[in-house]
Amino acid sequence: MTGTLLQTTINPIISLFLFSVLFVVWRRQPDLLHVLNWSFTYAVAGLGFVFAGITAHFGGWWLSWIVNLLFGLVSLFTARGMQIRYQGRPNDRQLFAIYGGLIAVASWFSFVHQDVLLRGTSVSIGIIAFLVVSALALIRAPKRDRIDLLLLAGICFAVLLIAARMAGTLVMREQLDSAGRVDSFWFQSLLVVALFGWISLAILFLVRIATDAMRDVAEQSVTDMLSGVRNRRGFFNEAAAILHGNPMHRPTTVALFDIDHFKRINDTCGHGTGDNVIRGLARILKQTVADRGIVGRLGGEEFAVILPGVDVPTTHVIADEVRNAFAKGRHEGVPSSIATTVSVGVAACQHQEKIDEVLERVDSALYEAKRSGRDRVVISKAA
Ligand code: GH3
Ligand code: MG
Ligand code: MG
Repeated sequence: MTGTLLQTTINPIISLFLFSVLFVVWRRQPDLLHVLNWSFTYAVAGLGFVFAGITAHFGGWWLSWIVNLLFGLVSLFTARGMQIRYQGRPNDRQLFAIYGGLIAVASWFSFVHQDVLLRGTSVSIGIIAFLVVSALALIRAPKRDRIDLLLLAGICFAVLLIAARMAGTLVMREQLDSAGRVDSFWFQSLLVVALFGWISLAILFLVRIATDAMRDVAEQSVTDMLSGVRNRRGFFNEAAAILHGNPMHRPTTVALFDIDHFKRINDTCGHGTGDNVIRGLARILKQTVADRGIVGRLGGEEFAVILPGVDVPTTHVIADEVRNAFAKGRHEGVPSSIATTVSVGVAACQHQEKIDEVLERVDSALYEAKRSGRDRVVISKAA
C-alpha cells in the first residue's frame, strides 16, 4: 500500500510544491526558459501521480495510457530544460520525435496489441532516451562545474532506477496488474527511492538556478553596462591577478586608449551619439584584442587593455590597428566633418610592479600622445 499512498498524496503534493517554487523563480526571471520547462516537469508529474493513484485504484488501459503519456511529457520537459540551459536552445524536433515514438508504442501496446509488460518496457525506454538526451546536453556543454556533475550523477541514477524497475517487472511478470505494477516490498522500496531521487533532482535544479544567479550578479558587478567590456573594478581585478601570477620572463604590456576631443562630439552631436562612439571603440577593442588580453573601460571615454605574454612592439601594432579602425569607422550620428580619433599610451610592466604603478607610466605616454598632436600611439620611455 505504501506505493499507492505515495502516489495519491505525497507525490502530487511534493510535485505541486516544487512546481510552485520553480514557477515563482521563473516569473521573476522570465528569460530563463529552462526554469519554466523544469517547472512544467513538476506540474505534469503532479498530474501524472494523481492519475497513477487513480489507475492503481480503478485499473484500466485508458488510465494507464494517460499515465504513460504524462510521464513521457515529464521527462520531455526535463530534457528540454537541460538543452536550453546547457546548449542554449532546445532541439524540439529530436524531443518530439522521441515523444511521438513513445506515444505510438504506448498506444499500440494499450489498444492494438494489449501487453502490459511490453508497454511498460517501451515507455521506460522512451524515458531513458530523454534522460540520455539530458545527459548529452550536459556533457557537451562548453563549461561544467560540480553542480553539473551532481546533476549528471542524478540523471545516471534515474536511468539505473528505471532500468531496475524494468528488470523487476520482467522477473515478476506473472504478478503484474493492469497498470504494470507488482505489489511487492521490492517494488514499493523502489518507489520510495525514486521519490527521494525526484526531490533531489529538484533541489539540484534549484541550486543550479541559484548558482547561475549568483554568477550573473558577480559578472554584472565587474561589467560596464554601456560598452559590455569590464568596468574599472573588473579590469583592476583581472590585471592584478595577471601581474600577480606573471613569471619574470613573460612580457606583459598595458595600453590606455582615450578618445580625442570627445567633449566636442558630445556637445555637437549629443550625449546619445557620444555613447555610440564609446560603444564603437569598445567593439573595435574587443575584436582586435580578442583573447590576447583583457579590455576594460576605466571611465568616460577611456579604455585600458592588458596583454599578458605580448611584447611592446606587438602591442604597438595592436594599438595602431585599433587607432586606424576607429579613425576609419563610421559612427551613427557623427557627421563626417567631425573626426573620431583616439590617442594611445603603451608601457611594459616591470617585474613585481602593481597595476596602478604601470598605469602611471602609461598615462604619461598617453599625455605625450595628446600633447604631440593626438591620433597616435606613444610608447612610454620609462619602460
Ligand atoms: P582630449 O582629447 O584631451 O581627451 O579631450 P576630451 O574632450 O576627450 O576630454 P575630456 O576629459 O575633457 O572630456 C571627456 C568627456 O567625456 C567629458 C564627459 O562629459 C564625457 N563623458 C564621460 N562619460 C561619458 C559617457 O558615459 N557618455 C558620454 N556620452 N560622455 C561621457
Ligand atoms: Mg578624451
Ligand atoms: Mg579622458
